[in-house]
Amino acid sequence: MRVVVIGAGIGGLALAQALHRAGVDVRVHDRDAAVSATGGYRLHLDATACAALRRHLRPAHYQAVLASSAGSGGFRQFAVTDHRLRPLLVAPQDPGEERLLIGRVPLRRLLAHGLDGRLFLGREFTHHRVDGDGTVTAHFADGSVDSADLLVGADGVGSRVARALAGRPTSAPVGISGIAGRTRLDPGTDRRVPEVLRAGPALAFAPGGVGAFLSLHDPLRAPAVDPATCREVPAIVEAPQLVWGLIAPDRLLPRDLRERSGAALAEVATDLLAGWSGDVRSVVGAADRDDLGAYRFHAADPDAELTPWPAGPVVCLGDAVHAMPPTGGMAAATAIRDADLLAGHLAAVRAGTSSLALAVHDHQRQMATYAPAAVRESLAPLRWIRAAGSPGGRLVARGLLPVAALAAGTHRALTGRGRPAPTDGTSGP
Ligand SMILES: Cc1cc2nc3c(=O)[nH]c(=O)nc-3n(C[C@H](O)[C@H](O)[C@H](O)COP(=O)(O)OP(=O)(O)OC[C@H]3O[C@@H](n4cnc5c(N)ncnc54)[C@H](O)[C@@H]3O)c2cc1C
Repeated sequence: MRVVVIGAGIGGLALAQALHRAGVDVRVHDRDAAVSATGGYRLHLDATACAALRRHLRPAHYQAVLASSAGSGGFRQFAVTDHRLRPLLVAPQDPGEERLLIGRVPLRRLLAHGLDGRLFLGREFTHHRVDGDGTVTAHFADGSVDSADLLVGADGVGSRVARALAGRPTSAPVGISGIAGRTRLDPGTDRRVPEVLRAGPALAFAPGGVGAFLSLHDPLRAPAVDPATCREVPAIVEAPQLVWGLIAPDRLLPRDLRERSGAALAEVATDLLAGWSGDVRSVVGAADRDDLGAYRFHAADPDAELTPWPAGPVVCLGDAVHAMPPTGGMAAATAIRDADLLAGHLAAVRAGTSSLALAVHDHQRQMATYAPAAVRESLAPLRWIRAAGSPGGRLVARGLLPVAALAAGTHRALTGRGRPAPTDGTSGP
């Protein structure tokens, strides 16, 4: 069986690792020139995704992934706060549950490890054709082609593969965008880090409709596995940093946000944070200008049929088919779960207990049992942003507690079994 994967992102590479290890002839194509030539800050992988990676990577390989991620000490709780970083709700996290907080670039580099000769970069997929013999041929912008028994669209938000199957885009902008960045921690910036972040990430909301995700990321401080033990597959350990993302309705943002330089994005971020805690303003203001990015959030419709096409020689996974905003911390984990699922069904084809079309059918059916829920949960925090920014929506934070409970519950569902507890602190704009 030959498999061609479009997209060497998190889901596509996880699938490639699983298939390669199982002896399947797999080739992955990505338009990026290098796996590290990409944006991305920090990803959260839940226990299900960790278990999938552990299953499909060699032990020394998974060890390197663990050693490249922040230890659980930095994620003892998840807090929902107001814009002064006063906790409204705190969800304790289960210390016994495996989860990874890892930079997107280190994870992508690690997932590309060992795929030499299988990974083709600088290859922009344009379209595919199903051939008379049932095989499928992928076409690339440079004129090259690649044929396989199965074509996998793991090409993320705006997927061309999924669009061809659905006859329309499989996701749409949600009307909310983000500016993301990271601030290196040195003695000067470290001292400004709000105390609540020492125990775990926070999602903060301000009246007026601006939110912020803030998280310390320090893989060197108490890592789960000592990077020095990773001799076979080296760990990739990032410097201590504060990862942050501001979230706001598009109407509050300049139209040309995504074309702006890092310095211009920093100015927009400063304006959005007017009235916020001085420490948050200060730490965000100290971010590396070259590392700022603006993102328009997209989502699939969680109430529509996920894959409204018959199972055939083309299949999709991850954001290509169920895009979701990063506000739930679920997109990467769900893409890995899809890859695991598909790898399992393809193993059945090889074992002679399934056919390719049945495997695709089973994959699509099972993906529909969990992916729409992940999209729905990831959209929940955006409701608060909209509520707080609605006309007359200068709401006191306490009035938004039911929405906060939803947001914290969302994160709990994703990241642990902690029970969100409302705090007593009164708060207001
Ligand atoms: C640059 C970037 C930065 C990100 N940063 C973050 C972050 O900081 N935090 C977070 O929570 N999520 C981030 N995400 C999203 C997160 O990686 C995904 O939501 C999640 O990993 C789902 O993975 P996926 O495999 O479905 O898609 P992705 O990981 O997005 O991978 C899709 C891949 O397909 C490739 N591709 C797309 N179109 C084509 C084409 N026509 N031809 C060839 N290749 C193509 C892309 O180059 C990309 O490598 C980022 C995504 C990208 C692309």
